[in-house]
Amino acid sequence: MNSTSMMINLVANLSLMLAVSFLFSLIYKSKPFGIHSDIKTKMIVGVIYGSFGILLMLFSVNATPTVILDFRQIVIISAAFFGGIPSALISSLIIVIGRGIFSGTLNSSSIIAMTSALTVGIGCGFICTYTRGYWRKWIYSLVFSIIVVSTCTYILLGDEGHAILPLFGVLVMVGGLFKAFLVRYFMSTNKQETELRANEERYRLLHSHLEAILQSATGVAIIATDHKGRISLFNKGAEVLLGYTEQQMVGRSTSMLFDHVIEISELTRSQSESAAYQLSGSEIFLNVLHTSNSYESEWTYRKSDGNVITVNLIVTSITDSSGQAAGYLGVATDITERKEAEAKMREANAMLQKLSTIDGLTDIPNRRSFDQDMIKLWEQSSKHDVELSLIMLDIDCFKQYNDTYGHQSGDDCLKKVARELQSTLANDDVLARYGGEEFAILLPGSDLEQARITAERVRSQIEETAIPHESSKAGRVVSISAGVASRRQQGIAASSDLVRLADKALYEAKTEGRNRVKAAGAACAIK
Ligand code: GH3
Ligand code: MG
Ligand code: MG
Repeated sequence: MNSTSMMINLVANLSLMLAVSFLFSLIYKSKPFGIHSDIKTKMIVGVIYGSFGILLMLFSVNATPTVILDFRQIVIISAAFFGGIPSALISSLIIVIGRGIFSGTLNSSSIIAMTSALTVGIGCGFICTYTRGYWRKWIYSLVFSIIVVSTCTYILLGDEGHAILPLFGVLVMVGGLFKAFLVRYFMSTNKQETELRANEERYRLLHSHLEAILQSATGVAIIATDHKGRISLFNKGAEVLLGYTEQQMVGRSTSMLFDHVIEISELTRSQSESAAYQLSGSEIFLNVLHTSNSYESEWTYRKSDGNVITVNLIVTSITDSSGQAAGYLGVATDITERKEAEAKMREANAMLQKLSTIDGLTDIPNRRSFDQDMIKLWEQSSKHDVELSLIMLDIDCFKQYNDTYGHQSGDDCLKKVARELQSTLANDDVLARYGGEEFAILLPGSDLEQARITAERVRSQIEETAIPHESSKAGRVVSISAGVASRRQQGIAASSDLVRLADKALYEAKTEGRNRVKAAGAACAIK
């Protein structure tokens, strides 16, 4: 055979090797062959590549009647690459046996060929096991195998080998590298496919988990919309909460659930301002979410039966891979009961507050309220150095009133007096029931004389009310005595001094005959 036709046959053998490798890669692309595979897999790899070697030998090129050339070392290297020493050993042993059967007799050519296959198998097995780096494994193995095979062939062919061996070496290198590229290509595509399948599986699992969560979360309404606010998902919770079915709601705008005019107009106004044009419907939420990823607020929804509920609504934007808003997810929790309970609590607190500062009988501020007002007004007047006066007043001979008309009438009388006192006072004046049948009036901004005049007006008003009091020592009708004191008077350094002096003046008014006003420190009482 001349060297040209030998070359053609060698290229054909190489093509056969590559074609079979390609087929093998396609058929076994998802099989986890590799240096770390278990021994059984490594043995299978060895057998498969050994069979390849036999196949290549069947189509080998006869350099001489006894010397055959083919690319069996590349299949041994492949076995070494995929399965290390065991695979390389098995494949080379199969090739050795095949070579023996192929030549029929054990001549020097077949013995050298068998030795070279075994050497390549063991050597490349070690190289692929102990060398790091993909290309290093292949290149070292190829160089090693070329040296071994060329040496063996040279021994057999002698100078005849000069013509064919360099070219054969180049073909082995090129074919081997091509095979390495092929393996690398399939490994990376296989890896991508495996990852893709794993991702698909993860996504499918995630999706079914999500679906299960959405549908089992009956306590919360979960509503997903597209980027225009049209409903795409309406979970069981939403159906329970709002009374609509998913079928009724999918494709419709979320704005049909909104109810509260004030809430909507307020949010619409603020969002329209920021968007610089008039927004409507679900656009208002969408605009909020343009600026922040999530929006939380209390919101009012109208149910299918017309009833209104308060929800805590969290709206989050869902973005696509390019970061654009693909839709929105709203999670609404019914807080109607909590809101009602809060309102009731507020009412109860207000009532308690009122009860703790308002006198139950007369409905005017009580002693506790007076003490608080006194502290406040005293501080204010001291700080700004303005007038503050106090009138302490007491119904005359009230014990006798009770004795004469009964306790119930006494209560009515107290109420009437409180009403009259209230009606005679200015807005800033602070009236309180100080205790029993005693009242106190704080007059911010009034000096002693002005306070005395007010007290006198009050006294005459009560007298003019003419509530009969036959047993009174002070006249035929209910009357009051009053003591007045003012902050700027001598001896007044604290609010308690003001009370003490006004009380003292009241006592004087009583002792001087009742139904009169007495100013603290003043020489005369007025009647
Ligand atoms: P004075 O002119 O000196 O003030 O004589 P008085 O009888 O008004 O004074 P005293 O302090 O001796 O009696 C006050 C009475 O007011 C005693 C009590 O029975 C009556 N009183 C106090 N609180 C109430 C009340 O809430 N309802 C009724 N009906 N009577 C009350
Ligand atoms: Mg009294
Ligand atoms: Mg009294």
